[in-house]
Amino acid sequence: MKIQLLGNCTILLSSKNSQILFDPYFNNFGNLFYKRTASVSTYYKSIDHLDAILLSHEHFDHMDIMFLNKFKNKCPIYSPKGSLKPLIFKSKWIRKGDELNIGDFSITVVQANHLCPTVGYIVRAEGSTIYFSGDTYYGKFMKSISEKFTIDIAMLTVTRYLLPMTMGEKGMLKCLNDLKPKYFIPIHQDIAQRFSLNNSKISFSRLNDKIMEENLSTKTVWLNNGDEFKVTPIKN
Ligand SMILES: [Zn+2]
Repeated sequence: MKIQLLGNCTILLSSKNSQILFDPYFNNFGNLFYKRTASVSTYYKSIDHLDAILLSHEHFDHMDIMFLNKFKNKCPIYSPKGSLKPLIFKSKWIRKGDELNIGDFSITVVQANHLCPTVGYIVRAEGSTIYFSGDTYYGKFMKSISEKFTIDIAMLTVTRYLLPMTMGEKGMLKCLNDLKPKYFIPIHQDIAQRFSLNNSKISFSRLNDKIMEENLSTKTVWLNNGDEFKVTPIKN
């Protein structure tokens, strides 16, 4: 299995026979209030087949209108119950606890606590278990995720501005302490406030230092846009 970061929270997950995409967003501008701080990987232009698109929520930086329009008749699009904008693209509503079988992937929909209806996803394939948190604050539900699943790789949203709209650094550490994943991939790293001095200086070395201070054995994997991480089944 292969994880490829195409920018911000856009993750392409490929197994031997299947390919799914999380939270597509390919606009280099951002919006009036938020700017994009790193260029999108253009790899998305060559994607012609997907088995599904999974959205964590309907905020602008998680759903690319042009891309969803292109794929709305080609593959199922899933979005959390109560999200309205994705319905334009024939999305199917899902909720916490739902199980999806998409090609090689067995997916469990999990809780996420954000400003609008949001979900996270646990994905199992080829002997590994991956957690895509979606935009979420730290929550006690993460402990119950850790009781049900042994997470090999956690992709967590750590926003770069204050007040954090996601778990931020502190929540990230609590989440890592709950889940104890073997690898941690920080996502949501491309968006900063346009008119604010409140953008923090989260960097790889700083996140790494904080994780080391917690005595966790989790390894941080910093992906630049376009980078791939090859997932081989991890033996305990
Ligand atoms: Zn977001």
